[in-house]
Amino acid sequence: MPVSVVTGANKGVGFGIVRSLCKTVGGTVILTSRNEERGVAAVQSLQAEGLNPVFEQLDICSDDSISKFCETIKSKYGGIDILCNNAGIAYKNASTAPLLEKAEVTCATNLLATIKITKSLLPLMNQSGRICQVASMAGTLNWSFPDLNNPVRKLLLDPALTEEGLLDIYNKYIEAVKQDDYSVFKRDSAYSISKCFLIAHTRILGREMKDNPGKVILNCCCPGYVDTDMTSHKGNLTIDQGAVTPVLVCTLPEGAGSGQFYREEKLYDW
Ligand code: NDP
Repeated sequence: MPVSVVTGANKGVGFGIVRSLCKTVGGTVILTSRNEERGVAAVQSLQAEGLNPVFEQLDICSDDSISKFCETIKSKYGGIDILCNNAGIAYKNASTAPLLEKAEVTCATNLLATIKITKSLLPLMNQSGRICQVASMAGTLNWSFPDLNNPVRKLLLDPALTEEGLLDIYNKYIEAVKQDDYSVFKRDSAYSISKCFLIAHTRILGREMKDNPGKVILNCCCPGYVDTDMTSHKGNLTIDQGAVTPVLVCTLPEGAGSGQFYREEKLYDW
């Protein structure tokens, strides 16, 4: 029986992904949440629909929580077949928080913690496992770096880019925000940068997995513009509709390839 894990699943798109995985994949679907009360309430509301997810606590920004979660996976579930890294944050457009705070806090969750949880759980993935990183259209190059001659755009597209190289670009981004220098990075672009770098990281990890038939397939996607707290409920899609592309990426057939970006249920050129 497959074991699926969805991060940040107590509400929004993640909750929709759990509901869909319960209906379409079955097995053990682990709804994780950083807050136990909200996570248990989410599980109970799916149980009221006749579904049967289980709850485990996971705060992707906490090393302690990650290590306890890894231990729980090993001892209670044996391994993971599907991992959907959905947890994410975004400051509201109207936020007046300092740009440096927005950049550091947003990237801490959407980029650095997402990389950490992915790499922590990778050794626990079963043969032929699937990983979906929930990114965003805002993370596409044309959105984040529209100028084709932008040197960072070129670096991100370099097929030899490594995780170390990507983190170096991230540090340059934080330095640019500190210096108030927006010659290369757009001003107030924390969310799109966090997702752009997450897609770049998916390409790096995916490249390492490409020539590994029968092994883990890792890709990323945009769920679309979804009616959730993050979008202040302005999105045009329901959470069930928003779950469709992430679930497709979680259930790609053998040979589908890794390191790619999906949107609207199709492969999309980053
Ligand atoms: P919501 O704000 O509705 O939900 C985000 C979820 O992530 C919540 O469960 C939240 O938990 C959780 N979360 C945040 N930080 C952490 C953490 N450190 N550890 C564990 N869980 C955490 O957002 P959406 O459902 O709209 O977004 C889901 C994903 O989809 C995000 O990655 C987002 O960037 C992406 N996305 C969403 C779009 C949209 O239109 N909605 C468009 C494009 C991408 P808590 O309740 O405790 O805060």
